[in-house]
Amino acid sequence: MAAVRRAGPNPGSEPGPEYKRACHVLLHAPSPHKVFGRVPVRHVVLMQMRFDGRLGFPGGFVDPRDSSLEEGLNRELAEEMGLGVGVARVTENDYISSWVMEHPQKIVGYFYAKRLSLEQLEQLEAGALSAKEHGLEVMGLVRVPLYTLRDGVGGLPAFLRNNFIGNAKEQLLEALGSLGLVPQNKLQEAVQASRE
Ligand code: AMP
Ligand code: MN
Repeated sequence: MAAVRRAGPNPGSEPGPEYKRACHVLLHAPSPHKVFGRVPVRHVVLMQMRFDGRLGFPGGFVDPRDSSLEEGLNRELAEEMGLGVGVARVTENDYISSWVMEHPQKIVGYFYAKRLSLEQLEQLEAGALSAKEHGLEVMGLVRVPLYTLRDGVGGLPAFLRNNFIGNAKEQLLEALGSLGLVPQNKLQEAVQASRE
């Protein structure tokens, strides 16, 4: 999958009508809590267990009726996470990066990230059980452990050994680094440990 740079306000029109467009978002919030009263959570980062057994980000295909990419993404978020997602309305300012997929189908993907307060994020989690797609497209929201436990593998390294849809794992790592949610050296150590 090649990365494409987002150019204008509506770059989705650039790749041509044969490409479907998909938008996904990483929602996160700072957390003061500690696991076992000892290991700092630091940030809550949301992903979801998908219908296909893989982990991915909330979002999906934007259809031609959606007036913009973000409109389509917000519609998908409401379907997958419930109406409480209103607090997390994604805008153009939350855009991070794009990707292009040629096989098995032509898709241009747009990736976003949005910071919420912990209260907002927890409200959203609580409401997600009543979302239209809960138990269908979405098997559940999950929080990504950002720490590494004393055994050197538990936490983020073990999480990275899961199966991810498309390039969701690369998107996760890119965002954790660029948003400063995990220090770069810790991130590299976790990636290394996940491969051992
Ligand atoms: P969805 O409706 O969420 O399954 O997403 C629409 C399309 O985008 C599907 O064909 C997925 O295979 C693909 N997709 C979903 N998430 C990602 C991702 N993070 N990276 C690449 N492709 C993805
Ligand atoms: Mn989806």
